[in-house]
Amino acid sequence: MTTLSQVLQALIPPRPASLVNPPPPWLLNPQTIYLEPAVEQLARGQQILERFPDAERILVDSHWKIPGLFGFEGNVGDWNKIKRDVLVLGVKKSLRAEPNSRSSDFIAPSHANGCAMACSYCYVPRQKGYANPISVFVNIEQIAAYLTRHATKLGWKAEPSQIDPIYWVYDIGCNSDCSVDAMVSDNVRDLVSLFRTLPTAKATFATKFVNRDLLSYDPQGKTRIRLSLMPQRMAKVVDVRTSPIAERIGIINDLHEAGYEVHLNFSPVIYYEGWQADYRELFDQLAQVLKPEVKDQLGAEIIFLTHNEKLHQINLGWHPKGEELLWNPELQDTKYSQMGGRNLRYKRGLKAGLVEEFNALLNKHLPECRIRYAF
Ligand code: SF4
Repeated sequence: MTTLSQVLQALIPPRPASLVNPPPPWLLNPQTIYLEPAVEQLARGQQILERFPDAERILVDSHWKIPGLFGFEGNVGDWNKIKRDVLVLGVKKSLRAEPNSRSSDFIAPSHANGCAMACSYCYVPRQKGYANPISVFVNIEQIAAYLTRHATKLGWKAEPSQIDPIYWVYDIGCNSDCSVDAMVSDNVRDLVSLFRTLPTAKATFATKFVNRDLLSYDPQGKTRIRLSLMPQRMAKVVDVRTSPIAERIGIINDLHEAGYEVHLNFSPVIYYEGWQADYRELFDQLAQVLKPEVKDQLGAEIIFLTHNEKLHQINLGWHPKGEELLWNPELQDTKYSQMGGRNLRYKRGLKAGLVEEFNALLNKHLPECRIRYAF
């Protein structure tokens, strides 16, 4: 059993701020840091503040309630500027691992939310208002201790599942992109270290950014990275501010060699004229680049696009070109969520055929890749 002192050993000593690779300024260059008062008292908070000494610091009562930043429609025009110029630091108060299905067994309590990238289908802004710059939670020791207790209490998984044959899997990147978060602080590094010590559990996160610093984290097979891929032609329009697809493919072998399990996340799959030829090309590229040992451990999740009416309206204010691909009501069915939101998915008859066609293409061009789930 992993004790709390082992957990803390995995987290200590914190690296000096200067050892964390800085984010490229076009992506994240904080001019303003909103912070809760407790942030300055905690080592992780101090590390981050030391990294961005020139940013103006503004104290706020809560990372959720920042006047003029969240829930303010007038920010739509400054969408990407806010993502680049603003950082929020807070303390995660409610620590809970939420049960999940498909991509992981649990969603770990967030070490961050929001994102410096700006994929136009992203659901994060739906939960967090109109501007969603990165918020980092600096009480990482509490988050790690909670996860240790949670995993220890569970014991071993009783039976294998498509999520993982052996381990309980915790998603540590549901509300942010860990590869970018890792350029702001050592939170991701600490969690990768933590899962190395938890005998029954594994971490996972999906990413659209290439951060080579991750290669030095030594995960020893206990973190699964899901590289999120789509044809570059589409990514160029909707995956705003992310790494190009070829770069993402280019790090897969290295991540595996560095000790990560690496899977593929085809999400969202967007239907358009000629999508099959573009995906065929993408699968062929993967087949050429990936080493046999990487292919042997490869799994994929396939998720066709779900769009949302409110998000569509917001996106029209900053990125209407993306909406030409995402918003297609004549091909999409409407479903109202519990929160009253109007979600759109490809019509049932159409989608069943698309899923089948996608799976057949992947099986043909990258036969080693196990399809974990597709919908
Ligand atoms: S990288 Fe992920 S979290 Fe960031 S904007 Fe894109 S979908 Fe959202």
